[in-house]
Amino acid sequence: MAQRDLILLGPPGAGKGTHAEYLKEHMSYTHLSTGNLLRAAVARASDLGKQAQGYMEAGELVPDDLVIDLVGERMEQLGCGEHFLLDGFPRTTGQAEALSEMLEELSREQPLVINLAVSDAEVVRRLSGRRMCPGCATIYNVHRDGLDIGDKCPECGGELYQRSDDQPEAIHNRLEVYKQDSAPLIEYYQKRGQLVTVDAEQGQQQVSAELADLARRER
Ligand code: AMP
Repeated sequence: MAQRDLILLGPPGAGKGTHAEYLKEHMSYTHLSTGNLLRAAVARASDLGKQAQGYMEAGELVPDDLVIDLVGERMEQLGCGEHFLLDGFPRTTGQAEALSEMLEELSREQPLVINLAVSDAEVVRRLSGRRMCPGCATIYNVHRDGLDIGDKCPECGGELYQRSDDQPEAIHNRLEVYKQDSAPLIEYYQKRGQLVTVDAEQGQQQVSAELADLARRER
């Protein structure tokens, strides 16, 4: 089945991670989440993790060169029949330019960019209610699932926690950073004819189904 490489764009809490998990499971994508890769680096206390930690806790962006190198390494490992799904990258036009060059060097097509549109109020509601499982990486929400910090994950029994950057002050900062640094990517990709916008406030299953449909569509 034909499928396209994808970039999921959108503010924090738009559902990038949740829909990426769905597409990975149903369409065999290689999911590249810079947030997950960076959190793993912080947990390992690697050099990258030590450099990234302060920025992440404050809800600031990690410097472009660190993130571009991280994604570049992963891109080089992709097989030619393997499709990627980028979640949380690019977040600046510098990262977008670097990605485009990387893909040209690897003779890969430029990806389809899906903009997940959600209002600020919904972002705040979702992020403040988000709970993570450390075991299987399932994402829950107190508003939707009723599960809270310290509860056991229904999938694997892991103890649910709240990301440190989902605290109110960091949420506010991440939204500001998104508007300043990442929202310009919408126009950037629109001009290049790569962008499609999806209403991400619809039900989760409907959004996932729309994304799967877009991913299968020929150019
Ligand atoms: P996320 O899980 O995508 O919300 O990312 C969590 C945090 O990791 C962000 O708030 C940033 O501090 C950092 N991060 C993730 N992706 C990037 C990126 N592409 N550029 C810079 N910082 C990033």
